[in-house]
Amino acid sequence: MSLVLAAKRVVDADGERPDAWVRVDGDTIVEVGAGTAPTGAVRADVLLPGFVDLHCHGGGGASFTSADPDQIARAATTHRAHGTTTMHASLVSADYDDLIAQIRALIPFVDDGTLRGIHLEGPWISPSYCGAHDPLTLRNPDPGDVARVLDAGEGRIGMVTLAPELPGALEAVRSIVDAGAIAAVGHTAADGDAARAAVDAGATVATHLFNAMPPLLHRDAGPVGVLLADSRVTCEVIGDGVHLEPDVVALALSAAHGRGALVTDAMSAAGAGDGDYRIGPLEVVVRDGVARLRDGGSLAGSTLLMDSAVRRAVRLAGRSLDEASTAASLAPARAMGLADRGRLAVGQRADVVALDEDLRVMRVLRGGEWA
Ligand SMILES: [Zn+2]
Repeated sequence: MSLVLAAKRVVDADGERPDAWVRVDGDTIVEVGAGTAPTGAVRADVLLPGFVDLHCHGGGGASFTSADPDQIARAATTHRAHGTTTMHASLVSADYDDLIAQIRALIPFVDDGTLRGIHLEGPWISPSYCGAHDPLTLRNPDPGDVARVLDAGEGRIGMVTLAPELPGALEAVRSIVDAGAIAAVGHTAADGDAARAAVDAGATVATHLFNAMPPLLHRDAGPVGVLLADSRVTCEVIGDGVHLEPDVVALALSAAHGRGALVTDAMSAAGAGDGDYRIGPLEVVVRDGVARLRDGGSLAGSTLLMDSAVRRAVRLAGRSLDEASTAASLAPARAMGLADRGRLAVGQRADVVALDEDLRVMRVLRGGEWA
């Protein structure tokens, strides 16, 4: 199928082209032009490259932890309708047998392209910074257990978040990278040196920078300062205005300088409204779009969708739209090792989000097909 999309603003990490258009043939962008669009063009106010979400637990009332194909499909479809064309499905800490069953249920969705990969957030994380993870399921990364879980993924594990200060964690980082997955530092009590050691061992992502880790202080950079300053690391930023205040989103995206990645860290309530939900075995209450554990009130993921994260980065955090696009598309695509997406340029996969002037999604093209 050949198709032209035209807009008043065509924006990606390379900047903004006024009155421009993008021609798609099959699943690929074959031409980008400016000026009068060819006849028959589909029109929008803004075109952005498809969004790439490194960290997402569910949406549309459905959860990736459910091991239920209908729920997995619904969660992915919900995010796709809001512009996400490439995503990890994130699993929270669980007992190994449960986790492996959840992994197996997700594998077909990686194979059919619905998901880019599976993100294991735990169970090798710090009990002191476990957020909305069930503390009873946390483990040290014993090499045999790490191998068993990675093997269960059969190459479809895309990312593993772990705390580098745990015994065996650096060996686990090397095993994760050898298995073709991203090792990510998060839910950690690490000091700056421990965070740096993880990066030296091969870790390349900071899981929701600032959240669930010791803070940045002016005489103690801690994991936040070390990960933000290290050019090898992509820093996840939850841009919902709740996990981080907008000035901190602005600070992180500026300081990361092209390595900041907007993530949703969405739970099942994203796109589904307030109410009572669960994350793994824990009860979660969502009020005014904010998800908290019923016990203790810890933040329990977000209800964010990627188009909303982009709007908030622009409106609340004062980022330019090309900077927001870098964080929503190019930086996370690079972190995943995907050179074929993240930009609106010739040769890129035809992942295009068409938005109105208020940056609300009108239509989503994914791999050259309307989602
Ligand atoms: Zn988390």
